[in-house]
Amino acid sequence: MPGRLTAEEQAVVEVVAEYVDRDVRPVVRELEQAGSYPEKLIDQMKELGCFGLAVPPPYGEGSVSTVCYALVTEELARGWMSLAGAVGGHTVVAHLLTAFGTDDQRQRYLPAMADGSVRATMALTEAGGGSDLQAMRTTARRDGDAYVVSGAKMWITNARRSGLIALLCKTDPEAEPRHRGISILLVEPGHGYTVSRDLGKLGYRGVESCEVVFGDVRVPTGALLGGEEGHGFAQMMRGLEVGRINVAARAVGVGRAAYEDALRYAEQREAFGKPIWQHQSIGNYLADMATTLQAARLLTLAAAERVDAGERADLEAGMAKLFASETAMQVTLDAIRVHGGYGYSTEYDVERYFRDAPLMIVGEGTNEIQRNLIARQLVERDLRLRQ
Ligand SMILES: Cc1cc2nc3c(=O)[nH]c(=O)nc-3n(C[C@H](O)[C@H](O)[C@H](O)COP(=O)(O)OP(=O)(O)OC[C@H]3O[C@@H](n4cnc5c(N)ncnc54)[C@H](O)[C@@H]3O)c2cc1C
Repeated sequence: MPGRLTAEEQAVVEVVAEYVDRDVRPVVRELEQAGSYPEKLIDQMKELGCFGLAVPPPYGEGSVSTVCYALVTEELARGWMSLAGAVGGHTVVAHLLTAFGTDDQRQRYLPAMADGSVRATMALTEAGGGSDLQAMRTTARRDGDAYVVSGAKMWITNARRSGLIALLCKTDPEAEPRHRGISILLVEPGHGYTVSRDLGKLGYRGVESCEVVFGDVRVPTGALLGGEEGHGFAQMMRGLEVGRINVAARAVGVGRAAYEDALRYAEQREAFGKPIWQHQSIGNYLADMATTLQAARLLTLAAAERVDAGERADLEAGMAKLFASETAMQVTLDAIRVHGGYGYSTEYDVERYFRDAPLMIVGEGTNEIQRNLIARQLVERDLRLRQ
């Protein structure tokens, strides 16, 4: 069964679970409804080491397996999906630096990312489209010992608070095939970089999502991830394997919170002289919620194990993200049904779970795109087997 942890890793998951119960769940409803940035909670997460989970030695001391990272993410999302989201992009950038960064780049960023004093985000999506990334318009033109970046990105998480942006852009807009002209630049917000607006959202509140503009931002050539142009698309696809495991684990966490609330409510609430779970329809909801959530968790942990084994996990991470996010959609809806009218009330948490769940069907590649990727991988693997 996937999901085995060392004793130290088990302790990490338990500490985060206790933090969620003690510090997050009691305050989340008020913070979320006010739309406030959760400064104190993020500071506590820094102290717990949540931002260093993917920063290996010698740059950090608190790295864990991807399986452990997924279980920590599930716990954070069980408290508040926004907290798990704040760690997601940061962790992808840590993976990008570890796998592809030059020594200088790792040394410059990873130690500060490990303690959360520098937080990182990734900027891929543009207003014209997020699925067809290769059609992006943001360019980085070489000018002496710098690149001059111009363009705009959309939906950038933590845009105001990130000290490092892993920017996907075109260093050769004429390249064919298009992916050969795409690179990642490690951009530190500075002159010419503007957060042009905050985007209003259904859920995922507290953490900002912004449109950002790069108006001829000069970035030193040393900021090119790995030091060689044209590898950015492939690098980002590797990074997104972990990003999709984060989204899948977030979906499991939100779904679990919804299921646990529904279970407790169904035990306590009575109708027609008995607890509502004893009405078969409600019992069936609970059974389906628990079963599909367990399946989603196992898919997520199996994908995480593949990453830990050093293997490509695009198929597995895609399957986990697809199944877990659709599960979260169904489970959060069913939790509302179990709660009856109170499921619609802002005095309960289930309405928040229901607003947070849809982000997981869209973020880190929509589920339509996941199906395309999964199908392509299935055929490729089959053809390889039959060669
Ligand atoms: C709250 C939030 C936070 C986000 N954070 C970030 C972030 O930090 N950084 C970042 O870079 N991006 C971020 N995103 C952007 C997110 O990754 C994109 O929204 C997503 O990739 C989809 O892109 P799009 O919105 O442009 O939709 P589009 O690409 O325009 O797609 C519209 C619809 O068409 C479908 N579609 C498109 N192409 C195909 C195809 N080939 N086959 C089948 N269906 C297709 C899509 O599945 C979708 O249903 C965030 C988004 C949200 C909502």
